[in-house]
Amino acid sequence: MSKVVIIGAGGVGGVVTHKCAQVPDVFSEIVLASRTQSKCDAIAAQIKRPIRTAAIDADNVPALTAFLKKEAPALVINVALPYQDLHIMDACLAAGVDYLDTANYEPLDVAKFEYKWQWAYQDRFKNAGRMALLGSGFDPGVTNVFCAYAQKKLFDEIHTIDILDANAGDHGYAFATNFNPEINLREVSAKGRYWDHGEWIETEPVSWSRQFDFPEIGPKKAYLLYHEELESLAQNIKGLKRIRFWMTFSDNYLMHMRALQNVGMLGIEAVNHKGQKIVPIEFLKTLLPDPASLGPRTKGLTNIGCLVEGLKDGKPRKVYIYNVCNHEECFREVFSQAISYTTGVPAMVGAKMMLTGKWRGKGVFNMEQLDPEPFLEALAKHGLPWQVKEMPVG
Ligand code: NDP
Repeated sequence: MSKVVIIGAGGVGGVVTHKCAQVPDVFSEIVLASRTQSKCDAIAAQIKRPIRTAAIDADNVPALTAFLKKEAPALVINVALPYQDLHIMDACLAAGVDYLDTANYEPLDVAKFEYKWQWAYQDRFKNAGRMALLGSGFDPGVTNVFCAYAQKKLFDEIHTIDILDANAGDHGYAFATNFNPEINLREVSAKGRYWDHGEWIETEPVSWSRQFDFPEIGPKKAYLLYHEELESLAQNIKGLKRIRFWMTFSDNYLMHMRALQNVGMLGIEAVNHKGQKIVPIEFLKTLLPDPASLGPRTKGLTNIGCLVEGLKDGKPRKVYIYNVCNHEECFREVFSQAISYTTGVPAMVGAKMMLTGKWRGKGVFNMEQLDPEPFLEALAKHGLPWQVKEMPVG
């Protein structure tokens, strides 16, 4: 029986709040805090259990520390934006609270994410006797746990991993992103990168593509991107030779993104407009549909998983470990599309692992460093069933 504070009332925050509310024996008290309290209140109004709400600016560390000391939760679930990660970690340390997030810290003024900033908190969390769990969404998150499961149960040696993320959903808009537009467009328009025999190899943005035949979705073209779990998995999966990340995009999405990039609308530096400073990508976010509003319009399936190749009992083996999620079913359950759902459910499951003592430790952890089995069992139970498919080797 534990109290949690959830920070962030966007698409993912809504799902996490619903899912925590479904497990009252673990999450006995839930506080939802975000910059705009009316968004917290709108989520709380969808849920039968009482959810307390609060206005908080997570970038104001003293105010957030005072708030956490007053509330004294066992855990903070951070589903605000990656820019807030370090501030929330600082406040958790100052208030003596455990920490969980779903996305790697990214500085506001550099479109680059790396674990180095959060891994630098290792000693501080260890010395304070507190635990921080990083990247407990789907990718990163479940994908890391799939790799840990492959290492523990399916392979003696893992040689290559390809993480595949397909969204075959349709929201009917000419252009919209399924999670925060700023974070999404910074990620997709950046250079690609993958890890091969100990070296990082850089590619031009969305310049490499490959066709994959996704179970239940069919063949789709996916593009090589850099994604944060590559960094921790390259370190933590023993004997790994190569790891890459692929995501599907429609031609329409890429055409819009490239046009916006070409005219400077993805810029992250302020420009002068009629005497006012405007950051183009922040203005673009104001114009684009709010991802939290896509739920009622989105139809179709997502398929996210890990294609793992290596050796088992001296023989080559290749498997695809994956989940398929249906946008409309997510909306029926928690008023959300599947991208927020597949992020919010693992955030709740990671929190449940920490609060029930199945995942405990002092310091900063990536998901693959913890036992995959209890997590995967709970994941299937709470809405994201997963499967292992044997694939032809080679
Ligand atoms: P949204 O933009 O929909 O929601 C973000 C929320 O954070 C908003 O409610 C926003 O408030 C709030 N917020 C922003 N800044 C602050 C602040 N300084 N203090 C308090 N609250 C703040 O984003 P999503 O819900 O789509 O995404 C949430 C997180 O999940 C992101 O970090 C994203 O990268 C991550 N994610 C992870 C995935 C994974 O698989 N691992 C997949 C998808 C997303 P306001 O409404 O006032 O702007």
